[in-house]
Amino acid sequence: MAMIDLQHRGIGMTSDRTRKRLIKRLREKGIRDSNVLNAMRTIPRHIFVDEALASRAYEDTALPIGRGQTISQPYIVARMTELLLESGPLDTVLEIGTGSGYQTALLSRLVRRVYSVERIESLQRLARLRFQELGLRNIRLHHADGSMGLPEYGPYDGILVTAAPEGIPRALVDQLKPGGRMVLPIGQEQAQILVRVTRTTDGYERELLERVVFVPLLGGVL
Ligand code: SAH
Repeated sequence: MAMIDLQHRGIGMTSDRTRKRLIKRLREKGIRDSNVLNAMRTIPRHIFVDEALASRAYEDTALPIGRGQTISQPYIVARMTELLLESGPLDTVLEIGTGSGYQTALLSRLVRRVYSVERIESLQRLARLRFQELGLRNIRLHHADGSMGLPEYGPYDGILVTAAPEGIPRALVDQLKPGGRMVLPIGQEQAQILVRVTRTTDGYERELLERVVFVPLLGGVL
């Protein structure tokens, strides 16, 4: 029953046409990776937000998900995923900040296995239910402070961080395979920049990309 409820919730406002319009908008904003665009077309973003906001789920905007957190703007989700996958398909990806689980679900369609860490248990519980409803089985969730990464399953081909630390966390760089990439926002509130880090044999290289707004990466678990 729950599955039927989720899939049919807010029908009309969440129609195929509405989703296609979002994909068109993402293309206009410069998203080029057709795998990313196709995966975004198939994942129902409206089930990742509260029912009261379902009608706005296919607008290109961030929305509140409770506990002071937000589901990222579709353009940013697409951009970060495209940057992460630019060099080709990846095997394992670590995500820090599961939140609603929307970015996690997208990654699960594009890589072999996704590990995702969230510090707020109630958000993680909701995300887990959504993955079950959608039949996504290649996701492993961890309730922890992700600022130190998840070394037990690393090193990873890619790491994606969806909350902003002030600088590049060395512990995360160390959990990348050589040549592996991490995409993350860094900086203080309202002055953040999206960065892509590529691990090299003796350190890392970084590319500063575009201005973004994310919630801060915080310590401790709730
Ligand atoms: N990708 C998510 C983004 C949610 S906002 C989405 O689109 O829904 C960022 C998330 O990072 C929040 O859920 C927040 O609780 C989580 N977060 C912040 N600091 C964290 C930390 N140190 N470890 C794990 N998760 C963290």
